[in-house]
Amino acid sequence: MRWKEQLLTLTPYQPGKSIESVKKQYNLDKIVKLASNENPFGCSGKALSALQLNNQSMPIYPDGYATNLRDSLAEFLQVESEELIFGNGSDNLIQIISRSLLHPGASTVMAAPTFSQYKHNAVIEGAIIKEVPLKNGEHDLDEMQKAIDELTNVVWLCSPNNPTGTYIPEKHLIAFLEKVPPHILVVLDEAYFEYVVADDYYESISLTRKFPNLIVLRTFSKIYGLASLRVGYGVANPAIIKALEPAREPFNVNSFGQSAVIAAIEDQEFVQDCKEKNREGLELFYQFCEQHQLEFYPSQTNFILIDFKVDGDKVFQYLLERGYIVRSGKALGFPTSVRFTVGSAEQNEGVLKVLSEFLASNKQEQLNGK
Ligand SMILES: *Cc1c(COP(=O)(O)O)cnc(C)c1O
Repeated sequence: MRWKEQLLTLTPYQPGKSIESVKKQYNLDKIVKLASNENPFGCSGKALSALQLNNQSMPIYPDGYATNLRDSLAEFLQVESEELIFGNGSDNLIQIISRSLLHPGASTVMAAPTFSQYKHNAVIEGAIIKEVPLKNGEHDLDEMQKAIDELTNVVWLCSPNNPTGTYIPEKHLIAFLEKVPPHILVVLDEAYFEYVVADDYYESISLTRKFPNLIVLRTFSKIYGLASLRVGYGVANPAIIKALEPAREPFNVNSFGQSAVIAAIEDQEFVQDCKEKNREGLELFYQFCEQHQLEFYPSQTNFILIDFKVDGDKVFQYLLERGYIVRSGKALGFPTSVRFTVGSAEQNEGVLKVLSEFLASNKQEQLNGK
């Protein structure tokens, strides 16, 4: 078969290890997964009830225009319904954008390390990829601007950034957007938007009004706790949405996701509560890092990247064997770090206790000259 050549260079996305496989392999009965930035508090009870009410729709195709969801979200965000596009997760929107704008004659600019799917999709489309290293864990917007050339069609910004948890301050973002030529689509992936507490964070949606070449991506997979239902959305100028729509599969958002999300939006109390608990959890990680003199990036998300100055896989393996699935920084571009999703209070205390043991045993090994 004559596969696209670039396809042969790719491997499928490596998800965090599954709970079941780890249980079996290490003969453990309790596993805590802090690897994929999922919500440890589940989802809104209202979303669960909405799913039960939707149990007649199995044989029926979902509403391809997601009309009710569109109306609810437009009202919630105070935007027009023509400013919205829905995806089977925001991953699907990254794919739709790539399919619409990238090809072997186009270039695309992104930070590195950042969320893997921008590059993955750009490779599939055969585009020229320009990766700009992070500076102190943050997007280097000056260098990203310099990387833009006459072939550039898409610039990807991830703020807060995965895997560092850092964000782009408002004035830097605006200065950057003012310099990007208007024919280039700027994608601002805000998967962790709801967790942000920084004062100088921007109002991304109002920026889409000022910059008609900006699209904001968000998801119901993270703070809303609905990752398995796969619903993400984009907000942009209606002209951008209109251009992207033909590249969207007609029934990409399932009806269970649509009805659960409508209910989830109405439960902002749940979102607020998760945000507060997440901050408390993060503070616990910060304290731990300070106590053990570990470097980390201050996070605006529900995860934290910690540098252990040893092989990240070693920390990962130690935790895995004791029932904690985390994400080694190795595959994320930070070989001596580990990324932890902030869990419930009990989960955080548990993982930090095992981490203390790891640090003590590692110190002992060093003293023994291993
Ligand atoms: C988790 C994540 C996504 C994907 O979210 P889905 O909506 O579940 O596809 C997109 N971008 C970033 C930065 C993420 O961390």
